[in-house]
Amino acid sequence: MFLPMVHPEIFLPPCDHTRETVNIIGRCMNDLSPVMPYLNAVMSRAAYQGSAHILRFRFEGHPVTLQPHEIAVGGFADGDEAVAMLTRVQQLINETWDRRQEITPSTLERRRLQALEVYKLLPRTNCGACGETTCFVFANKLAAGKVGIDLCAPICQDDALADARGQLMAMLELAA
Ligand code: SF4
Repeated sequence: MFLPMVHPEIFLPPCDHTRETVNIIGRCMNDLSPVMPYLNAVMSRAAYQGSAHILRFRFEGHPVTLQPHEIAVGGFADGDEAVAMLTRVQQLINETWDRRQEITPSTLERRRLQALEVYKLLPRTNCGACGETTCFVFANKLAAGKVGIDLCAPICQDDALADARGQLMAMLELAA
C-alpha cells in the first residue's frame, strides 16, 4: 500500500476560534510527491505546482492540499467528519496509485482564473441569456468553475466573437 498510515491533527482557524469550521491535517511518513502527477491527471481542475511539490484540488466539496508529507482538508462541521474525510482522501491516494499503470501522469500546471480576465473576453452586453443578471456575474461563476461556457450563447455562436471564444476556451482548458 502506497500510504498505509496518516496521523490526523484537527485544528480550528488560529485567528478565530469562534468559527465553526474544522480543518484537518494528516501527517504522513511517505513522500506523496510521486502520486501527485497521477492525481493531477484524474482530479478535475487540480492545481499542481511541480517545483514546490504541491497539489490542490476539491474532493467531495472540500478543498484538499497535498504537500510531500502532509494532507490538509478544510471545511468540516466537526472532528469526526474531518477524520472520516481524511480517510477517504487516503483511500483516493492509494486507489490512484494502484491504478497508475492505467493513468497518464500529468505535470500540467493549471492556475486559478480571475473573474476580470474572463469578463474581458465575454460580450459584455448583459443580455441575460445565460440566466445571470450581468456578464460579470457570469464571469465570476465561470472563473470558479461553477458554470460552463456553453451557457453563454453569444460567445459560443457569434462568428464575430471567434477570437475571444478561442482565447476563453484556451484559458478555461488550463483553469484550476
Ligand atoms: S449570455 Fe453571455 S453575453 Fe449574455 S449576459 Fe450572459 S455572459 Fe453576458
